[in-house]
Amino acid sequence: LMFGKARSSNFSAIPERGQPEFNVVVLGVMGSGKSALTVKFLTKRFISEYDPHLEDTYSSEEMVDQQPVVVKVMDTADQDGPVNCERYLTWASAFLVVYSIDSRRSFEGCQQYLEAITVHIRALQTHTPIILLGNKLDMERYRQVSKSDGSALASRFGCLFFEVSACLDFLSIQRVFHEAVREARRE
Ligand code: GDP
Ligand code: MG
Repeated sequence: LMFGKARSSNFSAIPERGQPEFNVVVLGVMGSGKSALTVKFLTKRFISEYDPHLEDTYSSEEMVDQQPVVVKVMDTADQDGPVNCERYLTWASAFLVVYSIDSRRSFEGCQQYLEAITVHIRALQTHTPIILLGNKLDMERYRQVSKSDGSALASRFGCLFFEVSACLDFLSIQRVFHEAVREARRE
């Protein structure tokens, strides 16, 4: 893949240019589409097969509201929900919690993440924004999670909420990541 990789060891390469950085962590159960969404945001392309065990952090220079920003995206690959989650809880400027609208199980998996994040945020008294994201909107025919269930869960945890598809238009995916930056700037 041709997009920039930024492992934690070389994070210092970017601040020299003086651009603010935002760290977006993408969470959710395996198969919800975290990697597809991350790759779409970074390359505008949908890649249907992606190593499900690969966790990595990528970097992209973006303009959000006419202001330059370096957006770092950690595409996580938890296998048993939010265990050993310190690495991303402490790193995040914003969280994207992803489920697939055609999977009730993935939606239920989101609640564990939202709870773990909330506990962490409360303990630190930070105001890290959370976005709940229903992915695979193109799978409407197989929908198992209604839009109102999604928005109810989001409001219970004080999150923004969107439904998208990693294989449809790029702009709606870009909007989600930019919204995360906007919210984090506001804090
Ligand atoms: P991850 O485990 O959360 O990283 O999920 P992946 O990004 O690897 O995606 C899991 C599977 O769902 C793959 O077969 C993808 O091709 C598929 N997928 C991801 N996003 C979408 C989407 O928006 N629509 C559809 N139809 N399939 C998707
Ligand atoms: Mg993945």
